[in-house]
Amino acid sequence: MPENQPTNQSEFVPLVNPPTHEIESHRYVHVVGSNVWVHDEPVDSEWDLHFLGMRGGHAMWGVDVPRGLDPADGAASDLFSYFGRASETDWLIAGRAVQIVEWARTHRFCGRCGTPTVQAPGERAMKCPACAMLAFPRLAPAMITLVTRGEGADQEALLARGVQFRAPMYSCLAGFVEPGETLEGAVIREVREEVGLEVANVRYWGSQPWPFPHSLMLGFQAEYLSGDIVCDPSEIVDAQWYRRDALPSIPPGISIARKLIDAWLIDG
Ligand SMILES: [Zn+2]
Repeated sequence: MPENQPTNQSEFVPLVNPPTHEIESHRYVHVVGSNVWVHDEPVDSEWDLHFLGMRGGHAMWGVDVPRGLDPADGAASDLFSYFGRASETDWLIAGRAVQIVEWARTHRFCGRCGTPTVQAPGERAMKCPACAMLAFPRLAPAMITLVTRGEGADQEALLARGVQFRAPMYSCLAGFVEPGETLEGAVIREVREEVGLEVANVRYWGSQPWPFPHSLMLGFQAEYLSGDIVCDPSEIVDAQWYRRDALPSIPPGISIARKLIDAWLIDG
């Protein structure tokens, strides 16, 4: 696997229950709204805890800080600003904490019969004691694609500026996978819908958790087949073909979009 491919998560081992040995210390990721603040102790022992996994010898916990309280006094970070400031592993742990706490907050009652749920022992699931329905954490798969055209040094990549972008930069195309759709089908459909192009030879590249609020980004490469760029104005402000030696402003280093672009740059 190339070095620039997404980090394997060996620095962090996700677990549902704490191991019975090898714990050196505990760390508590307090989830304040959707922000995070890490502390060596839970601020209030009454607050719900969710075990996240082990980072080396450190047992990592998510703490559900009740609405309206802020033990960090405004010092908690939102995941967007934490992204790029924290290491990739710490960011993945923070994202896991926010997603699991938010899932528990929004699954306190059974969606089928309305009975209060309980945490299912040994499983990452909320269980209904009346009808036995299980609710697992939600993940919304989203694909992100780097489309290329041509060969060798003259090869170009399609980069687009989305209407939602916070910074004036150009990135890969992305979109959610729909029910009943394959990932490859989603890539072909999204490229067609967003910029009016047909692509082929869709290849999986790598993935990245994206906790906004519960996506999993699946990276693909695809090759241009036909068509002229026609942007969907509800999604894309501008899209252009770029050569490796004339790139616009692109996303920051630890995003999968940037890793896809960097892999393409090295490839040339
Ligand atoms: Zn039920």
